[in-house]
Amino acid sequence: MADQNTFGIAGLLGWPVAHSRSPVIHNHWLAHYGIAGRYVLFPVPPEKLEAAVRGIATLGLRGCNVTTPHKQAIFPLVDRVDELARKIGAINTVVVEKDGTLIGFNNDGNGFIQSLRDADPKWRPDSGPIVVLGAGGAARAVVASLAAQGAKEIRVANRTLDKAQEIADAVGPVVKVLPWKQREEALEDIALLANATSLGMAGKPPLDISLDRLPKRALVGDLIYIPPETPLLAAARLHGNITVNGLGLLLNQARPAFNAWFGVMPEITPALRQAIAATF
Ligand code: NAP
Repeated sequence: MADQNTFGIAGLLGWPVAHSRSPVIHNHWLAHYGIAGRYVLFPVPPEKLEAAVRGIATLGLRGCNVTTPHKQAIFPLVDRVDELARKIGAINTVVVEKDGTLIGFNNDGNGFIQSLRDADPKWRPDSGPIVVLGAGGAARAVVASLAAQGAKEIRVANRTLDKAQEIADAVGPVVKVLPWKQREEALEDIALLANATSLGMAGKPPLDISLDRLPKRALVGDLIYIPPETPLLAAARLHGNITVNGLGLLLNQARPAFNAWFGVMPEITPALRQAIAATF
């Protein structure tokens, strides 16, 4: 538990880090809850990661977020890795214990799931089959977290089939691997469609998928938040589905990290959403 009586510092380890919205989120919460502290950016190139991580406890930081390209490389540098982060194969949050022990977590998948529940409180991970498009780091976090929260069947379709198979091998038999060309027929009876590819991001081509077979009761989530409404989400909204963009993931993964570092579970308020929107 963090000591509320001293100035607390946390930050983001990555290379590059300048584009990150995490300082806006955490510094908004620090101000809102009257906590003396600051969230800062730590641009750390790969060859300096080990030295940087060794300094986290020595310098008295509360912890840090971890982003590209360090999410896997940091594994051997922390003292303990939480079970979900181990299954995901990536760490996005480090918490420093009172005795200086470094513990690695990954809150990305749970953050995405929470954002879906915020949008549709009736939906649960076991509401019905799930289709996840993509098999990169973000997909793996989402699939492992959905499985940990009780999903019964997760169909993972990816252009490179081997990468989808790697997720199935790591997560277990609830994951069914599908060739990319079967992504439309897989939609027939699902309760959630999640896009974890980079298709639809600003500057990238849109995701090519017909939603004709998608049930209208299914939730459609996109991990992308720039643009706020991807072509997939626009099509799903017109189809009648509830849609969720990736901003909810970003905000919800930050809550448990802030709580661990600063001792308050923060709320996602309209003022915070406005502060983030102002950065786009
Ligand atoms: P990644 O590891 O690079 O994975 C990219 C995925 O997109 C892979 O599955 C890749 O397929 C697929 N893809 C790329 N181009 C494609 C194409 N032309 N056709 C079909 N599939 C294609 O990236 P990541 O870190 O997992 O991130 C994935 C997305 O999630 C990104 O848009 C990222 O911005 C978003 N994200 C959002 C948050 C958030 O806070 N909201 C957090 C993390 C990630 P192959 O395996 O075949 O290459």
